[in-house]
Amino acid sequence: MGIIVQKFGGTSVADAQKIHNAANAVIREKENGNDVIVVVSAMGHTTDHLIKLAKEITPNPDSRELDMLLSTGEQVSIALLAMAVQSGGYKAISLTGQQVGIITENIHSKARIVNIKTEKLKQFLNQGNIIIVAGFQGITEDGEITTLGRGGSDTSAVAIAAALNAERCDIYTDVEGVYATDPRIVPNIQKTDVISYEEMLELARVGANVLHPRSVETAKQFNVPLRVRSSFKLDNMGTLIIGVDNMEIYKPVAGVASDSSQVRILLSNLPDIPGTAAKLFGALAQNNISVDMIIQSLARNGENSIAFTVAEEDLNATLETIKNQKDIILTGEILTDNDIAKVSIVGAGMVDRPGIAASMFRALSEKNINIKMISTSEIKISCLVEKNNAKDAIKALCKEFGLESSEEAVVKGDLPDV
Ligand code: ADP
Ligand code: ASP
Ligand code: MG
Repeated sequence: MGIIVQKFGGTSVADAQKIHNAANAVIREKENGNDVIVVVSAMGHTTDHLIKLAKEITPNPDSRELDMLLSTGEQVSIALLAMAVQSGGYKAISLTGQQVGIITENIHSKARIVNIKTEKLKQFLNQGNIIIVAGFQGITEDGEITTLGRGGSDTSAVAIAAALNAERCDIYTDVEGVYATDPRIVPNIQKTDVISYEEMLELARVGANVLHPRSVETAKQFNVPLRVRSSFKLDNMGTLIIGVDNMEIYKPVAGVASDSSQVRILLSNLPDIPGTAAKLFGALAQNNISVDMIIQSLARNGENSIAFTVAEEDLNATLETIKNQKDIILTGEILTDNDIAKVSIVGAGMVDRPGIAASMFRALSEKNINIKMISTSEIKISCLVEKNNAKDAIKALCKEFGLESSEEAVVKGDLPDV
C-alpha cells in the first residue's frame, strides 16, 4: 500500500457540488487501497477576491498581513472537503500548513518550502485518516504565516509527496492534462500523454500556468511521478510528467506558452565599466526581485544600455532599487514598457536542430508581429511582442510546429471573471 498525494485546484472545489465531486475522487483512491493525502486550494476565485479586498483598504498592503489574509482561503476549503469525505463514510482530518509543519523561508508572498515535518502526517495516516492539507501556505521557524506565490498549492502537494516518498502526486484540475498550449487559446490542440520534467519545467516557467513551476522543480529533484488530470473525468489518466531519457526522439517543439505579467525596463547611458551589471542586478537580487530577460546593447562612447524584464508586481520595488543604487551613475532615462507579452516555444528536441528559431521568427513575421526582444536557452526560445499580439502569436506557432489537433479540448468548471 503506497501513499498517493492528490491536489485539487480552486475550480475543482468552487462550490458544494464540486467539493463532493472531489471527495469522490479522494474516496476512490482510498478504496484502491492507498493512503491518501489531499492538498486543496481556496474555493474558486477566493484568493483573487481577498487580494481585491485588501487593495480596497490600501493600494500597497503589507506583505505579512496579506499572507495572513490569503491563507484563510485554503482553511475554508480543507474543512469543507474533510466534511464531504466524512459524509462519504471515511475518516478524514483537515490540517493547516502550520499544523503539519510546512516550514518555509522567512519571506512573505513567495516563500520557498525548506522542510516538511512528517510526524503528524504519518501518525494520522496510521490511524486510518485521509488527511486534507491546506495548500499555498507555510510557517516560518518563528511562527509567521507565509504563502508560496500564486498557484503555489501545486508545490505544496509535490513537496508533501517528496517528503513522504509518495508513489505519485496527482494534480486534479479543470482540463484533461497538459496540452501543447493553453486550450482556452487554441481549442484544437494536441494533448500530451507523457512529458519530461525538463520540458514541463520550462513550459511552466514561461507561462503554462497549469502547474506552478516550483512544483515541477521539486518533482524533478525528488523524482516524484507527477500527473495532471481532470477532476471531472476521473477515469482519464491525463498527462504523466517524469524523467524521460530518450532525448533523440523528442519533437522539436513540445509546447507554446505566453506570459503577459512582465514589464520591460530600459536603462540608457550606463557607464561601460566593469561592475555596472553586477551592482545593478546584485541590488535587485538582494531585494528578492527576479529578473528574466536581459539584453545589453553594444557599447558606444563609453556608455551602453541595458533592458530587462521583471514581474509587473515587482515594478515599484525595481524602480526604487535602481534609484537608490548610488554607485551607478544613471545619466539617461529609466523607461518602462508595460505593453509586452513573452511568447515562448519549448522542446528538448530543438537541441542541435538548426532552423527552429528561424521558423519561429518567420511564423511571427507572416502575421506581421513585431519582436521587441529575443532570448534563447537550450530548450526554449522566447520573443517579446506587444500584448495584443500574444494570442495570434500562439496560434501561429502551434500551426507552424504541427501542434494542432482535429479534436477540441474540453475545459470544464469555468468561473465568471472576477
Ligand atoms: P487550478 O485551479 O486547478 O490550479 P489553474 O487555472 O491553475 O487551475 O490551471 C489550469 C488552467 O491552466 C487551465 O484551465 C488552462 O486554461 C491553463 N493552461 C495554460 N497552459 C496550459 C497547458 N499547456 N495545458 C493545459 N492547461 C493549460
Ligand atoms: N489559492 C492560491 C491562488 O489562487 C493558491 C493556488 O490556487 O494554488 O493562487
Ligand atoms: Mg493552479
